[in-house]
Amino acid sequence: MTRTPRWLLVVGLTAVLAVITAALCYELPKSSSFSTASPLNDLHSGHHGGLGEADGAVPDGVTVFDDSVPGVAKLDPGLLKALRQAATAAAHDKVTFYVNSGWRSAAYQNQLLREAIAKYGSEAEAERWVATAATSPHVSGDAVDLGRSDATAWLSGHSAEYGLCQIYRNEPWHYELRPEATVRGCPHMYADPTHDPRMQQ
Ligand SMILES: [Zn+2]
Repeated sequence: MTRTPRWLLVVGLTAVLAVITAALCYELPKSSSFSTASPLNDLHSGHHGGLGEADGAVPDGVTVFDDSVPGVAKLDPGLLKALRQAATAAAHDKVTFYVNSGWRSAAYQNQLLREAIAKYGSEAEAERWVATAATSPHVSGDAVDLGRSDATAWLSGHSAEYGLCQIYRNEPWHYELRPEATVRGCPHMYADPTHDPRMQQ
């Protein structure tokens, strides 16, 4: 019989208390192609602590055109417009933009955080995939996680034309609106969210 080390319990409890009220950017890739990129891959299915679509959970098969899903409808209008323009162009190449996650309520993010800490065993590791309340671009509706792999592959070559940019190198599915990208191209990517100055608050 194995026992959980006492230090691990202390670390875990400290992490939970430190961020219990935080809302987070938390990636939920549904594409199986990302199963090795994110150990959180299995968290997308089902409801989280009773929280559902009204809090930002996105069912399978939802696209950027599905206004009936709050996780899509509550995205920033400028981001949504750019996504739909890009998706319309991508459709000509038989590529569909699926939304794995978009806008999220703070309650939903907090639930996801609790699951993340439990899964990673440390706040430090979870922070590579997570942002805090004040900074989470998903809570403000300014970020979207897209699938499937053909969509992210299409975007990697075309997104700047629509003002859409990948922000983190470790999250090829996470896109935000950067209008200046249509002229200048996308800004340099951060290795992961811990390198993003917006997350240092
Ligand atoms: Zn994201």
